[in-house]
Amino acid sequence: MGKYYQPEIETASVEQIKSWQNEKLVKQIKHVWDNVPYYRNKMEEKGITPDDIKSIDDLHKLPFLTKDDLREAYPYGLLGTDLKNCVRIQSTSGTTGKRVVAFYTQEDVEIWEECCARAIMAVGGTNEDVCQVAYGYGLFTGGPGLNGGSHKVGCLTLPMSSGNTERQLQFMTDLGATILCCTPSYAAYLAESIHERGLRDQIKLRAGIFGAEAWSENMRRDIEKSLGIKAYDIYGLTEISGPGVSFECEAQTGMHINEDHFIAEIIDPDTGEVLPEGSKGELVFTCIDKEAFPLLRYRTRDICVLTRNKCSCGRTFIKMTKPMGRSDDMLIIRGVNVFPSQIETVLLQQGYQANYQIVVDRVNNTDTFEVLVEMTPDLFSDNLGKITEMEKELVLALKAMLGIQAKVKLVAPKSIARSEGKAVRVIDKRKI
Ligand SMILES: [Zn+2]
Repeated sequence: MGKYYQPEIETASVEQIKSWQNEKLVKQIKHVWDNVPYYRNKMEEKGITPDDIKSIDDLHKLPFLTKDDLREAYPYGLLGTDLKNCVRIQSTSGTTGKRVVAFYTQEDVEIWEECCARAIMAVGGTNEDVCQVAYGYGLFTGGPGLNGGSHKVGCLTLPMSSGNTERQLQFMTDLGATILCCTPSYAAYLAESIHERGLRDQIKLRAGIFGAEAWSENMRRDIEKSLGIKAYDIYGLTEISGPGVSFECEAQTGMHINEDHFIAEIIDPDTGEVLPEGSKGELVFTCIDKEAFPLLRYRTRDICVLTRNKCSCGRTFIKMTKPMGRSDDMLIIRGVNVFPSQIETVLLQQGYQANYQIVVDRVNNTDTFEVLVEMTPDLFSDNLGKITEMEKELVLALKAMLGIQAKVKLVAPKSIARSEGKAVRVIDKRKI
């Protein structure tokens, strides 16, 4: 087996890639103009029509899309095709509690799975591998994406989903999993569990594809050492399709973007100006062949750098660094997107004021997530039983909103540190 899923595409010349992008972009703009009134209005506001877009050099003329647009157009406003052609949704949490719902046609799913297949083959995956997919399945894109890619490569796929560590380890050892796909923090947790149980000699893993949250080179080395594998990064977001928008290869120096499907730009997050290759800025994606949810110039809010150097793997796709930060206040905690505004919404619903602090840390390679909440003077209770009860209620309400468990601590009124009278909302102690 070769090391590419689609060699003629993945190693195409840069001229060839640009020519595909030009052709697909022009077609996509017409498609969106004809089928998505929301986007046509945005183009008209900027005074442009499809005739103004003749190649990727004209991309900068198009308006940006942001999460606010997704919220405004929710649920069907950005749909690029009849619902009868859609076969799937995936979803992620949005800013003020409204979720992002992305739609897929059969062809969209096909392309997404091909992107994930490329990622699996880039880490050496073949039809002889046993691929354990321990990302969540369901609305979250991690499980379904890698599952589809694994099928395409022909691996024996173990659709484990996340959690249930005992069962993960049993299948991993009994069925001899060779590739593990999950969040890096879960990989670290599995590694720890393997050592605790003395199973290190019984595992056959040789590669891991770890994404959906930020992780450092140190964490990569820790995981590689404790599991005896090579650990690779993968990147994606539900709005654009899911994991596999870009993926790491054997060089482990950044992720190749699947440029036959997505055009990447780096912009100045403050001015929106397009920055030259090699600059650090906000990553923006244009989907050039998505049918159902064709986002154009979507601002990811991830800060990174793009570079197109010759890569030892032979792939010609441009590479992006790991996201180095965000241009908004979104936190990624245990692979889940968390916005402070969501926490605020829950607190107000539950009768608290918006005086809170989010403390995030990483202990033993796992994110800890604590929310300190000031009680209002009239809720203030020195009855310990009552406080514990109130904390439990908040834990449940936050879980319902965010999809992950936070530790909640109610604190006395006015006890959260304020600078210039304003509470410091987020303390992120993770060194990543
Ligand atoms: Zn490469």
